[in-house]
Amino acid sequence: KRGAKGAGGVPSKAAGEHPEYGACARFDELPLSNKTKDGLRKAGYTEMSEIQRAALPHALCGRDVLGAAKTGSGKTLAFVIPALEKLYRERWGPEDGVGCIVLSPNKDLAGQIFNVFQKVGKLHGFSAACIVGNRKGLDEEKAVINNMNILVCTPGRLLQHMGETTNFDCSQIQILVIDEADQVLDKNFQEQVDNVVSQLPKVRQTLLFSATQTKSVKDLARVSLKDPEYISVHEEA
Ligand code: ADP
Ligand code: MG
Repeated sequence: KRGAKGAGGVPSKAAGEHPEYGACARFDELPLSNKTKDGLRKAGYTEMSEIQRAALPHALCGRDVLGAAKTGSGKTLAFVIPALEKLYRERWGPEDGVGCIVLSPNKDLAGQIFNVFQKVGKLHGFSAACIVGNRKGLDEEKAVINNMNILVCTPGRLLQHMGETTNFDCSQIQILVIDEADQVLDKNFQEQVDNVVSQLPKVRQTLLFSATQTKSVKDLARVSLKDPEYISVHEEA
């Protein structure tokens, strides 16, 4: 049932510039599900930040995005919202397994991302887990990981599950997010990240965010970004 979606998430650029959404200033002007809109409102988010205004119209129509904006500029919502909307539009359900993976360089940042999914995604029925190798033991993670729709992970811990966890299935991933991409694509994580990405389906949306816009073509090829939108904003403090 999940095999039939094809490469439908890659609209042509000429046809999809959506100037009307590019001019949006508020979340409720975007074409979002009511669940996401209500989640945002209840969490107190109304006006978009610059990176959100720049990235969301592209990410929401399925494009790959490479976004750069300094720390504190609101990059998390720039990928949490498209991830929720992607699964929502695919009518993702409890039985569909893992549909979104977010890679984060460390436990703390992964925990923060997880909290934003919980808060903004509250009205969606998706299950989510933070897979970082703390608190919950490995066995506990193994027991639940296949029932999760959204995984926020550190690369090493995800790779461990790919290797050890019986029937762990990432073959239906719709969207891969790499946060702090400059760190996650760095030498320290290279082997783990390449190994992880090699086990993910090629047809998917990929969003990369970091504080600096420096990614080499080689790094982008490693995560097979397809004709990405390059977005870089420099907001005043
Ligand atoms: P980054 O990942 O770019 O460092 P975060 O996504 O962690 O930034 O966001 C930084 C802070 O800004 C968080 O406290 C977050 O709740 C807040 N924030 C993000 N977007 C908005 C927004 N549109 N309106 C108000 N606050 C926001
Ligand atoms: Mg961040």
